[in-house]
Amino acid sequence: MAQRDYYEVLNVSKSATPEEITKRYRELVMKYHPDLHKNDPGASKKMSEINEAYEVLSDPEKRKQYDVYGAVGEGVGAQGYGQGTNFGGGFGGGDFFGGVEDILRNFGFGGGFGEATVENERISAGSNIEASITISLSEAVLGTEKDVKVTRNDMCSVCHGSGVEPRAGYTTCSTCKGSGVVRKAQRTMFGEFVVQTTCPTCHGEGKIPKEKCHNCVGNGIIKGNHTVQVKIPPGVENGMRVRVRGQGNAGRHGGPPGDLYVFINVIENKTFTRVQDKIYYNAHISVADAVLGTVISVPLIEGNEEKLKIPLGTQSNSELVIRGRGGYAIGARRRGDLIVKIQVDIPISPSSEEVYYFEKLREIYNARRR
Ligand SMILES: [Zn+2]
Ligand SMILES: [Zn+2]
Repeated sequence: MAQRDYYEVLNVSKSATPEEITKRYRELVMKYHPDLHKNDPGASKKMSEINEAYEVLSDPEKRKQYDVYGAVGEGVGAQGYGQGTNFGGGFGGGDFFGGVEDILRNFGFGGGFGEATVENERISAGSNIEASITISLSEAVLGTEKDVKVTRNDMCSVCHGSGVEPRAGYTTCSTCKGSGVVRKAQRTMFGEFVVQTTCPTCHGEGKIPKEKCHNCVGNGIIKGNHTVQVKIPPGVENGMRVRVRGQGNAGRHGGPPGDLYVFINVIENKTFTRVQDKIYYNAHISVADAVLGTVISVPLIEGNEEKLKIPLGTQSNSELVIRGRGGYAIGARRRGDLIVKIQVDIPISPSSEEVYYFEKLREIYNARRR
C-alpha cells in the first residue's frame, strides 16, 4: 500500500515541534472524527491515516526512525494502527479504537482507561446521612450515649444488593453483546475522542437479569428505619457533629456504606455557663457571710453537690475554684475547673432589725475613718 508522507498527513513542517504536532493532531481529530461524518466512509480512512501519522511523529524514537528510513519498521502496524482498511461500517473497528485508547493514554489519561470506567460505575460508596439530637449541658460536658432514629437505604437482604431475583438467571445484554462496554465520541479538553464507556443497558455487567428482585424492585437497596446508638464524647459544643462510621446509606454493588452525621443541639442551662473546659456558677451569699466567712453547697454538673469554704472577708465578684469539677475540652483526659463567682446580696428592703444593726455598723465604720 502506498504510504502518504506523515508530515503531509498532519500538514506540519519537517521541523515541527512535538507541541505543534500535538496541537495539529487535535485540530484534525476535531475536523475528521468519523462520528462527525457518519455517512462518509472516507472519514474513517482519513482518521486512520491521521492516527497513524500522529502515532509515529509524536514518538521521538519512531519519528527519528521515520525521518531516516521513511518508514517505521514493526512498530506501527503491530500496534494496530490499521492501514485504513479494517473499518467496515465506520464505527466499531477494533484497530481504530485500540489506537484511540493508546492516544488517550499518551495524553495522560492513565492506563486501563476502559476498565477503570467500568469499575467506577459499578461500585459506588453509599452517601452520608444526617440526623440531629438535643442533649443537656451536663450530657455535653460529660459525654453520653443516645439512640438516634434514622431512615436510610439498606442493602436488600434478598438479593444482597445485586437487584437480581436469586436463581432467575441472566440473558446476554443486546446493547453491548455481553462485553459490558460501548464506544462513543466524547469531547475533552484535547478535542473529540472515541472513548469506551460502561454499557448503559447492563451497567457493565454484560448480562441482564431475567427477573428483578421482588423485594427491592431491582434497586438492590431498600429503605429502612433504624435506631442507632451514638456515642457523644465529653466536651461537645452546640452545633458540633459526631460521625458514626458505616451507618449511612448502603453502597451499590458491594461499595462501602456512607456515614451518619449527628448534629448536636445543647439545651441552654440556667445554672451553669460553659467556656471551653471551665464551668461557671454564680453563688449568692449574704453580706454577713461575705464578711464573716461560711461554708456553702455548690451544685455540680453531674448532679450532686460539693461543699465550698467562703473565707472571711470575701469580696463580691471574686472567683473561687473547685478543681476538676468543670468540663472536658474535646479529646482531653482531665476535667477543667468549676469556677464559683461570688455575688454578695445587698438587702433590697432591709427589715427594721437589719436597719438597726447596719446603723450600728455605720457608726463603727465612720469612727474608724476619723
Ligand atoms: Zn433485592
Ligand atoms: Zn450491556
